Amino acid sequence: MKKYILSIEQVRKIVSDNHYKVEAKMRLASRCIDGRYQVQGQLAPIGVPGADAGDLALILATGNSYGFEVDLDKAYQVLVEMVGGEKNLQFHTDSHAEKNLTLGGCGHFKQMTLDSQAYNLDKKQVEKIRAKFTSAKKKGAKEIILHGEHLEGAVLIVSGPYSLYPRYNLDSQEGKIEVQVFVYHQSLAQERYKKLAEELVKQKAVKLYKSLNGEYLYQVLSEMAENHLMETSRRLAKGLPIYQVNFEADGGFEIKEIGIV
Ligand SMILES: [Zn+2]
Repeated sequence: MKKYILSIEQVRKIVSDNHYKVEAKMRLASRCIDGRYQVQGQLAPIGVPGADAGDLALILATGNSYGFEVDLDKAYQVLVEMVGGEKNLQFHTDSHAEKNLTLGGCGHFKQMTLDSQAYNLDKKQVEKIRAKFTSAKKKGAKEIILHGEHLEGAVLIVSGPYSLYPRYNLDSQEGKIEVQVFVYHQSLAQERYKKLAEELVKQKAVKLYKSLNGEYLYQVLSEMAENHLMETSRRLAKGLPIYQVNFEADGGFEIKEIGIV
């Protein structure tokens, strides 16, 4: 299938038709930035690379980079409690991936496996994260399987109380074409990192230098989150336009192009 690079007008149409209000109970639920999620009900709204598995990796990478210890088991537990139990954990593979390899079809996780150093991780840590989510599956967590080809034609950085379904059938001169967008939900991700940072400190999942606190942890998690997003974008979204989409409370929105990956 052909991949189309999306103009600002096309993205405006997609956003206008495909946005949905984030329900309170889904306010902390992540999904991957992947563009292949189907349109369905209250899709987990917070697009971040690798969903919950990506965020566990993010915590470890932040520890490596800023020089503090992370207790992986405790950090995992904090994440699980934040989303309301293992059954709510969000992570995915795809229908092309090696069967039974947890996270095998998540592009972000694949890149972290191939070049863990670029993500401030070591290979062992990446495999420990995979093992955590493999054991979660055995305990009833559901790994989402995404179907179809990657057709993402833009990267969307979203802010506000709405999220987006990433797949769309767009009218074009060639008739209806299937398109997708990468969705990074910046403002909801930040809220989530704030809460995550507080809980990680409270549950002693991280050993910070004594004068440092949850606010510090939030800052450095956010910085590393940006690094991880950029690493994966450079690998999977090279050449695509980046659009900032800001939603108002009433569902109105504005879009601007902020660059090219
Ligand atoms: Zn993914």
